[in-house]
Amino acid sequence: MEQELLRLKQEAEEALAQVAGADQLEAFRVRFLGRKGGVLTGVLRQLGKVAAEDRPRLGQLANDIKQEIETRFEEKKAQLTVAGADTDSGRIDYSLPGRYLPFGKLHPVTQVMEEICSIFEGLGFAVAEGPDVETDYYNFEALNIPKHHPARDMHDTFYVTDSILLRTHTSPMQARIMERQEPPLRYVVPGKVYRCDSDMTHTPMFHQVEGLLVDRRVSFADLKGVLTSFTHKIFERELALRFRPSYFPFTEPSAEVDVACVICGGSGCRVCKRTGWLEILGSGLIDPEVLKMVGYDPDVYSGFAFGLGVERIAMLKYGIDDIRLYYENDLRFLSQF
Ligand SMILES: [Zn+2]
Repeated sequence: MEQELLRLKQEAEEALAQVAGADQLEAFRVRFLGRKGGVLTGVLRQLGKVAAEDRPRLGQLANDIKQEIETRFEEKKAQLTVAGADTDSGRIDYSLPGRYLPFGKLHPVTQVMEEICSIFEGLGFAVAEGPDVETDYYNFEALNIPKHHPARDMHDTFYVTDSILLRTHTSPMQARIMERQEPPLRYVVPGKVYRCDSDMTHTPMFHQVEGLLVDRRVSFADLKGVLTSFTHKIFERELALRFRPSYFPFTEPSAEVDVACVICGGSGCRVCKRTGWLEILGSGLIDPEVLKMVGYDPDVYSGFAFGLGVERIAMLKYGIDDIRLYYENDLRFLSQF
């Protein structure tokens, strides 16, 4: 019995040292000092069974130990209250740090889109926005893509009705802007576009920035100058550019623009598929047919247009290999930007 009491005392001391909060303290009280089922109460009950001559000495010992544990318990309680961990006490510790409130931030795609627009604003472009729900006329016809034109197949369009759709690119704003004003004009158009497509590098909704410049004697050299200047700013270094002949119904000539791989610098890696180049945008001089449709004289005016994918630029800028990460809304991912 004596052994048991001493062991109990030691056990209680060790347990109390581990207590770190009000809940744990209460659990300790129930376990050791509780009137019903407390370990100490249980030992005291057995006092009746020990030999009569040992009873006074053991009774004294048991009481001393009980008192000792109670004293330690009270000390611990006072200590926790001062530390502010005892929330039940009703005391407020003004020196405690406040609760952390996370700051909201702009989505990385929004951040990159704003950065793109501000670079072009620095080059004298104005920012315009247009409707996400567009007519077939502005999305296709006004861009030299008549009905049954094979280029329509490339777009995987979401149709609302036969003549209304979710815009498949930001290019409809080219015609909308040119219709309502005379050159010279310089615009960038950021916005959402929609295509029926989804995999590692495609989402059904993504963002584009359209660029448009019309004036007298605008040449391909102007296009190259503007895009080179933009690329150096957005990737924060002087990467080489490559203009590859391409085809778009609303530009002639057309070029897809590649930038030297931002990961390997052009020596070839997994991201650039060993080519050393990454495609970043489509561009070209505005087709005279498009200028005629909005009432401009193609013998007087010329211009260029380009369209770039914001997610694509953001992926290359931050080294992200799966576009879907931007839309899973995992805060652990988003808070890194
Ligand atoms: Zn590479």
